[in-house]
Amino acid sequence: MKKTTAKLADGREILYYDTDESAVRDTVDRRHLEPTAVRSAIRRDPATGDSVTIAAHRQGRTHLPPADECPLCPSTDARLSEIPAPDYEVAVFENRFPSLHPDADAPRTERPLRTAGPGTGRCEVVCFTADHDASFADLSEARARLVLDAWTDRTAALSALPGVEQVYCFENRGAEIGVTLAHPHGQIYAFPFTTPRTTRIAARAWAHRTATGRNLFDDLLAAERADGERVVLAGEHWTAFVPFAARWPYEVHLYPHRRVPDLTALDEAERAEFPRLYLDLLRRFDRLFGTGRTPYISAWHQAPRDQRDELALHLELFTIRRTADKLKYLAGVESGMDAFVNDVSPEHAAQRLREAAL
Ligand SMILES: [Zn+2]
Repeated sequence: MKKTTAKLADGREILYYDTDESAVRDTVDRRHLEPTAVRSAIRRDPATGDSVTIAAHRQGRTHLPPADECPLCPSTDARLSEIPAPDYEVAVFENRFPSLHPDADAPRTERPLRTAGPGTGRCEVVCFTADHDASFADLSEARARLVLDAWTDRTAALSALPGVEQVYCFENRGAEIGVTLAHPHGQIYAFPFTTPRTTRIAARAWAHRTATGRNLFDDLLAAERADGERVVLAGEHWTAFVPFAARWPYEVHLYPHRRVPDLTALDEAERAEFPRLYLDLLRRFDRLFGTGRTPYISAWHQAPRDQRDELALHLELFTIRRTADKLKYLAGVESGMDAFVNDVSPEHAAQRLREAAL
């Protein structure tokens, strides 16, 4: 893999990842862009302890532009996009409208019930291909591997930034999910706090360690592999299963068999096998409903800085689609109480996903 680092017109960083070692990515960004001021704040909810990012400056961001104004397509003489190069394999750049920024400007307060600070961190956009009409499921295994290597490189770099607690690589796919740009891409958030879901999971992992002397994820993966009823597919180094208490109509968790805290700790054999299994899963999702591309969220769970001993790297992939013409909305029960009602049994979901193999 060849990595080339450059700057956009407003000073943001862009990185090109190429399988072709001879690739030259030296096109200058010819736009006139003023740096954007980021006034994000992190507030701690005094009742739940959750951190909430307040990023009011993002209201003016680009929303579903026409294809000929896509900011993620390569630049041409007629149209200068976020990616100056005339072509690329994988490109990563700092989001122009970030929720988190290393120089976020907001006051720090430590009063009782009023804990807040600046939204320091970083938000990046990961473009998987220059092909505007493709999706991740269309990528070759070699390209998916390059994306994995880019995620890994960014995880290492962002984890090393001062104040970053957790690095989150994810993809939203489909307008139903709220995607504002159609071009195939994902995002990375480098959080200055441990996210609420990870905080809850870490508490469970420590409780399991205290009660049993064992690791929660080792036991969880072993139990699912032994049971098999919810396993969707398995390779030599990874297993994908629908979780016992799945929240979403179709939800799959993909774990490496060897517990590691984050992407940087995967070995070569695990990296080599991942693209085939992940592409297989995505293509099964697209075959579920006969409606073409299924909207989904794909979320890498990586251990925060201080939880590397007990937490396990894994990917959670889920769709909000229940049937060909019905979506799962987070309404009163879920949004009001964080208590999910799932209309599809996890065992049935696993069976359907097994049957969706080519
Ligand atoms: Zn595009």
